[in-house]
Amino acid sequence: MSVRHSGIGMTSQRTRNRLIERLRAEGIQDEVVLAAMNAVPRHIFVDEALASRAYDDVALPLGFGQTISQPYIVARMIEILRNGKQLKRVLEVGTGCGYQAAVLAQVAQEVYSVERIQPLYERAQQHMKELNAHNVTLRYADGGMGLPEVAPFDGIIMAAAATHVAPALLSQLAPGGRMVLPLGAQEQYLCLIERDEKGYRETRLEAVKFVPLLMGKA
Ligand code: SAH
Repeated sequence: MSVRHSGIGMTSQRTRNRLIERLRAEGIQDEVVLAAMNAVPRHIFVDEALASRAYDDVALPLGFGQTISQPYIVARMIEILRNGKQLKRVLEVGTGCGYQAAVLAQVAQEVYSVERIQPLYERAQQHMKELNAHNVTLRYADGGMGLPEVAPFDGIIMAAAATHVAPALLSQLAPGGRMVLPLGAQEQYLCLIERDEKGYRETRLEAVKFVPLLMGKA
């Protein structure tokens, strides 16, 4: 491992362990998710000036008005998505700089992630290369309608908030699959959608705060 990955001082393994203990205290129980969070160096995803805060449990600015998600939210969404089972093919809408995609790569066989802002997509590509995340495929596109050519997915995660669930995304969920997404405008909550042979079931979870899902490429 390079110095940049192993980190020193504020980005050391000890600092990272503290984050994992914090996530545990906040209620994350899935050991597979905790191990994945521990395996991904978050400091490489943030500006060098912010590296000392990379293992604080807070969202941080990415530029372009976007943020790298709070570790707790990443862990929570993946824990719900996994539901204690091995994930095969997962779609993430809103790659940002690729942090959550890198965590997903640890717990799923194949990860597809879509980003509408080109410089962020390029930065995420760079990060995946640096981490040797060969099972992650990134796309520069509007992901609001998912990736029909790759579907079905057994997991779909939205990293940006919509006011309603796009039917196109629902249809890309495999039977037995789960989708976790923030819903709402000013007031948002996390929503779980489960698909079975008969249809879809929606469960409303805790209040959250995400950037909005926007249309088109930028
Ligand atoms: N997954 C990121 C979070 C990025 S913030 C992480 O791990 O930190 C959400 C991202 O969703 C932003 O980068 C934003 O540009 C992107 N986004 C918003 N609407 C989108 C859309 N329709 N298609 C693809 N990406 C979108």
